[in-house]
Amino acid sequence: MRYLPIFLDLQTGPVLLVGAGELVRAKLRLLTAAGARIRWYATSGDHDVSGLDPADAARIDFAQGDPLTADLTGVIAILCAGAGDIGVAMSVRAKSVGLPVNVMDDLVHSTFIFPAIVDRGEVVVAVGTGGASPVVARRVREKIEAMLPARIGDLATFIGRFRKSIHGRMPDMALRRRFWERVVDGAIGALVLGGRTHEAEAALNDIADPSAFAGAQAAGEIQGHVTLVGAGPGDPDLLTIKALRALQDADVVFYDELVSGEILDRIRRDAARVPVGRRVGKPGIGQHAINRLMIEAAKSGQRAVRLKGGDPFVFGRGGEEIEALRKANVAYSVVPGITAGLGGAAQFEVPLTFRHEALRITFLTAHRAKDAEAIDWSALTDTRMTVVVYMGMTAAPSVRSGLLAAGRPPQTPVGVFARVTRPDARAAVGRLENLPDLVEKIDGGPAILIIGDVVAHSAPWRHQNLNQIISKILEAAA
Ligand code: SAH
Repeated sequence: MRYLPIFLDLQTGPVLLVGAGELVRAKLRLLTAAGARIRWYATSGDHDVSGLDPADAARIDFAQGDPLTADLTGVIAILCAGAGDIGVAMSVRAKSVGLPVNVMDDLVHSTFIFPAIVDRGEVVVAVGTGGASPVVARRVREKIEAMLPARIGDLATFIGRFRKSIHGRMPDMALRRRFWERVVDGAIGALVLGGRTHEAEAALNDIADPSAFAGAQAAGEIQGHVTLVGAGPGDPDLLTIKALRALQDADVVFYDELVSGEILDRIRRDAARVPVGRRVGKPGIGQHAINRLMIEAAKSGQRAVRLKGGDPFVFGRGGEEIEALRKANVAYSVVPGITAGLGGAAQFEVPLTFRHEALRITFLTAHRAKDAEAIDWSALTDTRMTVVVYMGMTAAPSVRSGLLAAGRPPQTPVGVFARVTRPDARAAVGRLENLPDLVEKIDGGPAILIIGDVVAHSAPWRHQNLNQIISKILEAAA
């Protein structure tokens, strides 16, 4: 992020506009719609306001003279559109006095740029691409337009009217936030969004005890809550809507080392973030300490999120954690996530089941060679069973020997899928007898192993075959 979106209060002073033609008229429309005071220097010498609403045009100060020597006292920003060389010179002048300046379509001479805007009254969404692609910005804007309720701005205005009085009655910030969340997410919010503001107002005024409404218990004690959230394998777009909401509502997030930075970026900005997982070379704080942290957070009234890679209940110790929460009488809920095995299968097109070829799936973990030895491999010899191994990189030689000894054919297709759904995802496919070599090929974990005939349907397998055919043809031609 190079450009920080900020919202400029246009009531605090005039905006100096320099330029002519259709480009300047577009800026005039934007600025007048936002209620700006505009001082316009027309570089063509002609203050042409055709196409502009006469009421808007009446609010423009048609400035005369040279903008390069104009008095800039009180001016809050300078915009140049269709101003040619004068725009560049204005930029130099603005920079010398430290005024924000935008020269249209000229990043070099601009110190700020205009975002694409979704305008719903008090609710304004700014979309930027750092000037790289206005088309992409517009596509994003369209998506947001489609997603936002039409009266979302009315809802903000509505809340704005009551903010002060509620603030006076509820000094506790966390409680107040919860109060407004209940209003926004509940019946009152729905009334406003449905255009029934009067009824919403009556309902809000009917709330005799805002603290009780916010969910506080007797004597202002708030009940906290822990949400176990599956973060999926890495791609933030694979978060569920519920997971996203939990991250946006959290006061504190305890996260594992497997959770990607892009996902951490989705956490509410002022929530506390506490890493509790193992780091490279460093042990984690331990399960017991994690449980204690979660319980303490909830008991102090916070909404805690326990954020885990993949799914909390697939080799994620989620079961142990909810057991501890239950014992401590802490309320909790679980939001599933896409487990690494499913994420990898989707990304690399491994159909985990396939008509008559694969009728069963087994998920197993083989963390250390010792775990691998403890596995009953004889239960995994069914050639119509796909086996997905978690934490299996180190134990790959034991997985291989266990399955071979139990009688699974050495030619069984296998794949190692690393860092799935992340930008640096990699796959290596081959045969069971070569499984440990494949693990070497993928440059580090985390990785899952998939064993079974279905791997022969995967995208990397198909590409590998194609490459082999191409090399044979090339060899023959040489
Ligand atoms: N709860 C997690 C699994 C945690 S165990 C889930 O449901 O996915 C940790 C193991 O998960 C790793 O050793 C690796 O085998 C697998 N794993 C997690 N994220 C992965 C990823 N992005 N790519 C490949 N494997 C991953």
